[in-house]
Amino acid sequence: MPTSRDLLERLVAFDTTSHRSNLPLIDFVVGYLSDHGLECTLQRDETGLKANLWCTIGPSGQDGGIILSGHTDTVPVDGQDWSSDPFTLSERGGRLYARGACDMKGFLACVLSAVPKMLAAPQRRPFHIAFTHDEEVGCIGARQLVEKLAAETVRPAFCVVGEPTMMGVVTGHKAKRSMRVTVHGRSCHSSLAPKGVNAIDHAASLILALRAMGRQLATLPGDPAYDIAVTTAHTGTIEGGTVLNIVPDRCSFTCEFRVLPDQDPDALVAELRQAIASEEAAMRRLAPEARIELDVYAGFPGLDTPDDAEIVRLAKGWSQSNGQSKVAYGTEAGLFANGLGTATIVCGPGSIDVAHRPDEYVEIAQLDRCDAFLERLIAWNGA
Ligand SMILES: [Zn+2]
Repeated sequence: MPTSRDLLERLVAFDTTSHRSNLPLIDFVVGYLSDHGLECTLQRDETGLKANLWCTIGPSGQDGGIILSGHTDTVPVDGQDWSSDPFTLSERGGRLYARGACDMKGFLACVLSAVPKMLAAPQRRPFHIAFTHDEEVGCIGARQLVEKLAAETVRPAFCVVGEPTMMGVVTGHKAKRSMRVTVHGRSCHSSLAPKGVNAIDHAASLILALRAMGRQLATLPGDPAYDIAVTTAHTGTIEGGTVLNIVPDRCSFTCEFRVLPDQDPDALVAELRQAIASEEAAMRRLAPEARIELDVYAGFPGLDTPDDAEIVRLAKGWSQSNGQSKVAYGTEAGLFANGLGTATIVCGPGSIDVAHRPDEYVEIAQLDRCDAFLERLIAWNGA
């Protein structure tokens, strides 16, 4: 039977950077699971080039099972300086290096490696394997999967999302809204600047309004369990203008809110929308054709599983860890918790500190801990 490490070696060899198809990896997993007599359901996206995979082991059509969830895509390696080929698993000093080794093919490998044990053990409740696409670009696959599952009658009781937590149990993360603002003004020669409507100027006003929102949010009581205790606002990219002597008629920027689970991310988006409406009104006094678009192109809900929830107690036993924590980064966990009402935690091998970086790695000892976690989970399900 292949070990987690053997399977990780196979999984990292598929370049599943988010902009590429994940189907070769999915085909490999389907083949592996069908070798064990298991049938998978694939849910393709509208392009047909990406798919989510869902596979139930044990009693199907039954409530109360546990979802083991992970994403198949990775961030790009472009422009990163790697010491070894990012798509070839390389062992150095007890660490396994490759793109996705920790975020999060390590967890996928451990889950696949545990499949024979799941099949051999008594199964009082179903195991559901959920491998999704396009997490790194906004949890797109998981959103589609959760929508499909929500329309079905079976309700899994628990979900473990295996994002890297060093096998600690994570009960909370923030919500996110990713937005693009595009300002359309009126162009003219820069010597006639007052006759134009400068899109960059108006974008700048909105960026300052967003910064002011962030400063205001920072004064609200936060949650000290997070390393950044408050809701944050941030502008990430900006582009606009062509040459100095033309008043630019177009400027766009991307920005985000990272929102504590007890606050409403859409209320913040609505507040930004109001600032946009008044900025747009000011532009239209000179140029009636001027407009500003706000595109909320991605996002996910926060996760806020109570410390005394059964899944937290169980997962602490499986991972043999004492406490629980909350993290600033987002995961698919909020979608499962909010969309399905499934009690969800995040727990997986490796450290988020090395995710997305050159020479990303997972320690062999972390894969061993994840294997042991799954063994205890399987034993619990049989007991
Ligand atoms: Zn991830």
